[in-house]
Amino acid sequence: MSQRTSHGAASGPKILDGKTLSRAVARTVTAHVTTLSSKINRAPGLAVILVGENPASKTYVASKHRFAKECGLETFDSHLPASVTREELAAVIEGYNHNDKVDGILLQLPLPAPLDGSEFVRMIAPEKDADGLHPANQGLLLQGAPAPRPCTPLGVMTMLDLAMSDITLGETTTLADLPRASLAGKSAVVIGRSQLVGKPMGFLLLERNATVTFAHSKTTDLPGVCRAADIVVAAVGVPRLVKRDWVKPGAIVLDVGINRLPDGKLCGDVDYDDVAPVASAITPVPGGVGPMTVAMLISNTVSNCARRNGVVL
Ligand code: NAD
Repeated sequence: MSQRTSHGAASGPKILDGKTLSRAVARTVTAHVTTLSSKINRAPGLAVILVGENPASKTYVASKHRFAKECGLETFDSHLPASVTREELAAVIEGYNHNDKVDGILLQLPLPAPLDGSEFVRMIAPEKDADGLHPANQGLLLQGAPAPRPCTPLGVMTMLDLAMSDITLGETTTLADLPRASLAGKSAVVIGRSQLVGKPMGFLLLERNATVTFAHSKTTDLPGVCRAADIVVAAVGVPRLVKRDWVKPGAIVLDVGINRLPDGKLCGDVDYDDVAPVASAITPVPGGVGPMTVAMLISNTVSNCARRNGVVL
């Protein structure tokens, strides 16, 4: 598998390394934290709420916490037992809504049954929504108005910028070095239509002028629909669903899926080894979209802080 820095399938795909790109986000966010802290006399604050002992959730929360600390944010933690009542969890969220030092609230999903995640996401003050999942913020996304955007699609868009640029990521690269790709004239297919990923993903692509198709479990001829696209985003949850003959030669392939195989290894929704030879750029799993989701959560929190305090970064 060869690494390359410009696009075109002839010399192998450009591997979109989410870990390295997330370092560029960290440098940008750290600089913003310094600017903000000097203006408002405190660091931006992230509150992290974890309910129960789900091992995957604990791992995600730990990496978000680490990233926030590294960028200089203040963090607030609530680890609640799975037996927490609806009222107790609501009170924790309400407490952070009223805590002026908190700019971002992360409620790690899924919540243990019988708690309903969407009910509690709605309790988060929209201006403190770190994940960009509050219905008010999803409405603002549809309107194209400023608001926190869902982290995973936001991370995918930054990977797309990398895919379409000629920059080589280095130890001092920041997001300012990465031009925003114009998607005018490009066709994009998003496989998956969830609230969390597929739907907002499509609207972020549309915002950049791509011609977007949403594909899903009821789509007929999914391979044909994908083959027509310049950009394929897979957010399905089916291991290695997307095969080589689904992908137009030279297309950019962004794999959101995280699937655990029976042998314990992780894989995406794209059959990476099969597809990579025909793609111009592709994300690996793990090490692709996952680290960018974490980075964007912290970036959203800092943007929330700036917006709440009228600071232009
Ligand atoms: P979801 O289950 O809510 O939605 C899956 C979507 O895929 C649905 O809209 C469904 O219509 C569609 N679908 C299911 N089977 C299909 C098929 N055979 N053909 C076509 N479409 C089909 O899942 P989600 O929350 O959107 O997550 C999708 C994947 O992304 C999962 O693997 C999840 O673990 C992963 N994920 C990764 C990150 C990250 O940071 N990398 C973040 C969120 C989710």
